[in-house]
Amino acid sequence: MKVCGHASRVPPHRASAIGLATVEHVLGIGYSCLPDGVSPPSELGSGLAAAAWYWDQLDERKCAELLETFKTNRTGWVPTLVVLERILELGGHDGKPIADPRTLERLRAALHRSAELAVRLHRMGGLTGVGTDFPVDTVSAGESVHRELELLVSLGQATPLEALQIGTLSSARILGFEALLGTVEAGKIANLVVLSADPLKNISNVRSVTLVVHDGKVHHPQ
Ligand SMILES: [Zn+2]
Repeated sequence: MKVCGHASRVPPHRASAIGLATVEHVLGIGYSCLPDGVSPPSELGSGLAAAAWYWDQLDERKCAELLETFKTNRTGWVPTLVVLERILELGGHDGKPIADPRTLERLRAALHRSAELAVRLHRMGGLTGVGTDFPVDTVSAGESVHRELELLVSLGQATPLEALQIGTLSSARILGFEALLGTVEAGKIANLVVLSADPLKNISNVRSVTLVVHDGKVHHPQ
């Protein structure tokens, strides 16, 4: 049985080593990437300001080691970039805008950096997935998946093809459903969309849905 969760206070590299199948979100990642010899200030506490501090300390070598650990242990990372984007726009789970400009700046950098790391994990042959944490922080159903794909391209520098791979086959592998989902092939469940524009030319063309096929049944937009 797969066990999934939000690793933070148990740093993601340790959670991966003891068998957690997936790690979600961005903010906990920094807990595995502190440079040697650096410890958090005692007054740091928890919450957004604390998570932002960790991202400000990020050690490149530790990041590389974390991605290798994820790859070796086949740990899926679902960064839910769209959630951090919403937090930056609207504030945290309490809905209060982030007042501290330093925290805001650090979290903006974390969004860019995490998108790059997530794409790098995919390029290394690791498991990056698309998820959106709907419905927290007013993340919308459906559209947020399109937005996540756009962020992988615009911030993470994924090619549109890589973003689509992350959102389909890679995400199916994370769930252990790759024999049934993730590609259009004979013998798999027919879950797919038909688009009117090429998403390989512009990832935002994933929004041009003209037809949905779910479990083999065709649904036309109203
Ligand atoms: Zn969550």
